[in-house]
Amino acid sequence: GVLMRTGEQPHASDVVNYAPFTLLPSAVPQALFEQAYAVQQDFNLLVDTISQNKEFLEKTLASTIKVDDFTARLFRIYMQVLEEGLAQTVFLGINRSDYMFDCGLGGTAALRQIEINTIAASFGGLTSRTADVHRLVLKVLGKTEEASRLLPNNPAKGLALGIAKAWELYGSQRAVVMFLVEDVQRNIFDQRCVENELWNRNIRVVRKRFRDVFEQGSLDASRRLYMDGQEVAVVYYREGYVPQVYDEQNWEARLLLERSRAVKCPDIATQLAGTKKVQQELSRPGTLEKLLPGHPEAIARIRATFAGLYSLDEGEEGDRIAATAIADPDRFVLKPQREGGGNNLYGEELREVLEKIKDSPERTSYILMDKIKPQPALNYLLRAHSPLQVSECISELGIFGVYVRQGQELVLNRAAGHLLRTKAIEHADGGVAAGVAVLDTPYLV
Ligand code: ADP
Ligand code: MG
Repeated sequence: GVLMRTGEQPHASDVVNYAPFTLLPSAVPQALFEQAYAVQQDFNLLVDTISQNKEFLEKTLASTIKVDDFTARLFRIYMQVLEEGLAQTVFLGINRSDYMFDCGLGGTAALRQIEINTIAASFGGLTSRTADVHRLVLKVLGKTEEASRLLPNNPAKGLALGIAKAWELYGSQRAVVMFLVEDVQRNIFDQRCVENELWNRNIRVVRKRFRDVFEQGSLDASRRLYMDGQEVAVVYYREGYVPQVYDEQNWEARLLLERSRAVKCPDIATQLAGTKKVQQELSRPGTLEKLLPGHPEAIARIRATFAGLYSLDEGEEGDRIAATAIADPDRFVLKPQREGGGNNLYGEELREVLEKIKDSPERTSYILMDKIKPQPALNYLLRAHSPLQVSECISELGIFGVYVRQGQELVLNRAAGHLLRTKAIEHADGGVAAGVAVLDTPYLV
């Protein structure tokens, strides 16, 4: 079912609760929904291209890694692996590009990308079942016609297809797929949906933590990865994007995985391609043209989704935008190089922090982004142990992308389904796992 483990018993699978969801599906403009799907293959291509462009990553992240230790450490592993020479020849990307619908001045909503998640993009599993919940609710309400209009959606299958393709190209029947998972796995059932699709294809799956890799992992002479004697074809990270999980042993485990021949989803270059700093640099005039020469139509589709993004690097450009944001903080969001929700700064807090760091190099660890202002709608957010009340809500649409590259050739490049998350307007930040947003289904209008 659409389930999560509970906060009280986060390790138990015999006491669980429903994952939070909206009572009703939310209206989503059909044109914007289609636009988001239509640009997904372009984003897959872009992320994959950036991951192979050392010069771009080096230049773009140069200012950030001077002040942000986490990004710096990831970058060091990236350089180390490149110097040794890549053993990996098959590459697998699973990402989720997130959008909001900006209602702007003219009254027509526009699709605006919030960010692209290139590591551990979650809820593809649970959301494969969410439409069934909403279809049932609509039928109970006597809305049979509306129920029949909810779109089928199965990212779990699409993600598994990518993993299976990578496993096949790796080319060892005996090798397993390893899900690299958290110590506390409240969202395990989301992952199980993808895992089960792999078992259905007779592909073995194991679930391991960084600590297990440190204790059991090894490489042979051709840098094949083994866990206690079992060969690993694909490492699918559902962990590893926040600094808190890395002690020295876990960093060592990460390095071992990155040096290996196994297909990492994502490899460390692709993780770096998903940083907020890279996102901001992409919006600079001319950058997309340099990265994707010969793809003017893809570039136009990609650029049409960009919100205003601003560098806070030292210098005149950064000084100017910092001053503008301090004067008018409600126009902006201040973002550090972090993932997982709850890290961004808004309003008064944004002003205070920026005021404090505006003359120090620390400011370059952040980027600024225009704040997107969607039109709120009423819905009920159903969350265990929470009062049931109607709330003013806004939604965020995510499109899952999957691609597989063998050497230089993209052998698979697809959109794999969607995720709609909805939250009450009083929360500026935060996703489903952070306890703020809930699972939803788009009702196209
Ligand atoms: P994270 O990597 O932590 O998920 P995001 O960039 O996705 O960071 O931001 C987290 C949440 O903050 C988003 O899900 C969204 O609700 C809100 N948010 C982020 N950027 C903006 C923006 N430009 N305008 C309005 N809300 C935003
Ligand atoms: Mg996000």
